[in-house]
Amino acid sequence: MTYVREFRLFNTLWRLGRWSFSLCLAFIAKSLGLHMTPETLDGPVRAMVERIVPGGTVLDLLVHTERFARKDECFASVEEKVRRDGGERVLGWHIWKGNLIAEAELHAVWKSPDGQLTDIVPRPLFISRILFLPDEKIVYTGATVDNIRINLSGSPVVDDFIRAHSAKFALLNVGQRAYMQEFELSSSEKEVYEFLISMISGIEYMALARRGIDDPCLCRSGKAYRVCHRPQLESALEVLRTNGYFSPSV
Ligand SMILES: [Zn+2]
Repeated sequence: MTYVREFRLFNTLWRLGRWSFSLCLAFIAKSLGLHMTPETLDGPVRAMVERIVPGGTVLDLLVHTERFARKDECFASVEEKVRRDGGERVLGWHIWKGNLIAEAELHAVWKSPDGQLTDIVPRPLFISRILFLPDEKIVYTGATVDNIRINLSGSPVVDDFIRAHSAKFALLNVGQRAYMQEFELSSSEKEVYEFLISMISGIEYMALARRGIDDPCLCRSGKAYRVCHRPQLESALEVLRTNGYFSPSV
């Protein structure tokens, strides 16, 4: 009896500890502005959802990671789950929200034979549920698809952050690269890639510090961002556009 009681006490303490640990991690993640599952769908995020799937319903799904599932391979992982346990693969968009932007990421989840939808890929410890927008229009071809991103801050600096992300995606996924895991960038591509990577982290830093385009540039040149690195980003985008990496609208 004593043993059982002690075991129960230990069990409760263990669960309590684990729960507070996850809560702490969630708090830290939120303070750092990391992407989280939004608690509610507010105006701009709802508008993004409506644009992707008009009249669509966002579902709140539990994460139940399968040991064989891989983070970046949700499509193959769900296919494997269907082979093992039946059910079917459902395609749609995973909705993320950070301090600066919200994103919709192409994603596959598992529908059990009794109709329950579950996210089966590994997630950080503090994420136990995801928001998922099923989209019947998606035809999965194996090509990598860019995330859909919206600016939540209204700042033009965040617009640049989004454009730099789109440019990086275009560079890494042009033509057949969208189907490839490994490939070599040419030396001029490498130069643009490294520039975009440094821009992305620099702009993110500026945006989180609530600096606008008229504030000092991320490179500490003393000049305003508007006349320093902003035009440099514009020229990098222009190079990619004229070389057919992406459409003129980006
Ligand atoms: Zn600069």
